[in-house]
Amino acid sequence: MVERNNTCKACEGTGMLADDEGWQYKCSVCGGEGVRDDNSGPTRILDVDATNRLLD
Ligand SMILES: [Zn+2]
Repeated sequence: MVERNNTCKACEGTGMLADDEGWQYKCSVCGGEGVRDDNSGPTRILDVDATNRLLD
C-alpha cells in the first residue's frame, strides 16, 4: 500500500510520542498526523538534527 511508505518513522504512525516519564506529546516530525509528507520529510528531519546539535 502506498500509505505505508508515508508512515512516520518517529511515531510509527500513531502521531504521538512518549518520553521516559510517560508524558505523551504530539509527534514533531509529522505534527500528530501519523504520516509524513515525502516532499519535505527527510530534509526536515535533518534540519531538526542540526538544530539540536547547535543547541547542545
Ligand atoms: Zn510522527
